[in-house]
Amino acid sequence: MAEKVAGRVERRNAGDNTSAATSEAFERSVIGSGIAVREIVKSYGAFRAADQVSLEIEPGEFITLLGPSGSGKTTLLNLIAGFQKPDDGEILVDGKAIQDVPTHKRGFGMVFQSYALFPNMTVTQNVAFPLRMAGVDRATAERRVAETLDMMRLSEHAAKSPSQMSGGQQQRVAIARAIVLRPKVVLMDEPLSALDRRLRESIQIEIRQLHRTLGSTILFVTHDQGEALTMSDRIAVMDAGKIVQVGTPTEIYRHPKDRFVASFVGESNLIEAEVVQKRGTTMTLKNRAGYVFSAESRDAIDVGRASVLVRPERIAISDVPTANSIPAVVTSALFLGEILRVEVRMEGGETLLIRCTDRTGRPLPSVGDLLHVSWGAEDCWVLS
Ligand code: ATP
Repeated sequence: MAEKVAGRVERRNAGDNTSAATSEAFERSVIGSGIAVREIVKSYGAFRAADQVSLEIEPGEFITLLGPSGSGKTTLLNLIAGFQKPDDGEILVDGKAIQDVPTHKRGFGMVFQSYALFPNMTVTQNVAFPLRMAGVDRATAERRVAETLDMMRLSEHAAKSPSQMSGGQQQRVAIARAIVLRPKVVLMDEPLSALDRRLRESIQIEIRQLHRTLGSTILFVTHDQGEALTMSDRIAVMDAGKIVQVGTPTEIYRHPKDRFVASFVGESNLIEAEVVQKRGTTMTLKNRAGYVFSAESRDAIDVGRASVLVRPERIAISDVPTANSIPAVVTSALFLGEILRVEVRMEGGETLLIRCTDRTGRPLPSVGDLLHVSWGAEDCWVLS
């Protein structure tokens, strides 16, 4: 990602092409803005919805705020959008403080869960609206609308009214309207949560492609961890008004900072164990029943006891003991097509969830079967 960001910075130095509604402003791609959120506080009465939040968003980055309901995602997005004012802290866009800049002068594109299209206007008129407001000349506006409808695969619906379109199509119109001015920043608050799963997945891919084509910085809010993992360059995980971890999808999934992130992002097995040896970031641990295994950690954590994460798909099962395997009894086994979902109780009492691929010729495990479970040190992560 460093390379990508460096590339963007280089392009930015070559010239700002989005500041005015001129024909050059309508180049197909823009250079996204960098956003710095510094120690932002926002309270509602005694309740802190944003509690000293800091976040650096790189120019052109696709960053997602992910967290449970009430964790402060929309509050942070609204503060960046200018719908709300922070009680403390500052927000910088390309190095300039924007707290006192009204929303409409920030020049951000915005997409919300509700499509908020003008019902009495056609698709073309909806998408052309921001261009009209910006005083863009007619010929340029027509070209830009056609280009944007094409980008969002909406050209054939240009003359329809919103009521003649499906939810997914309406949301694509809302996205088209948000990007028609080629904003340097696009804010999206749960834009797909009203759509069914298949549609969500196809629009997720479209938004990703759009981001690549457009080059804008995108700040995306979701409570859906799968959506965040699929779409983002980086994810900022929020809990109780704070950002608890920022990282790439693989960092967040493989190396979560704590139990909250481990449990919120993906399915997780948390095993209680005692650290018996540390060598750099590799640890040797002993579980409750005295079985010894190795795990990785960010730093050599100085604790006697630790919670250790093993993802369900990283656990191997065998009918016979293998190196460092732990005996376990099957408590449930489900055939889900390409994978098996198996729950086992390890010696010592802890339950593990396992997801493994179905293998032709291997009988399905049955409740009560004795298996032997194991995992590699690199698939086992000590939580701080
Ligand atoms: P969701 O996924 O449910 O939208 P969220 O993570 O976006 O949740 P926010 O909408 O930012 O969460 O809300 C954070 C907290 O602040 C919540 O507890 C909410 O009840 C509270 N809150 C938000 N807006 C207000 C308001 N205007 N007045 C009082 N409390 C508010």
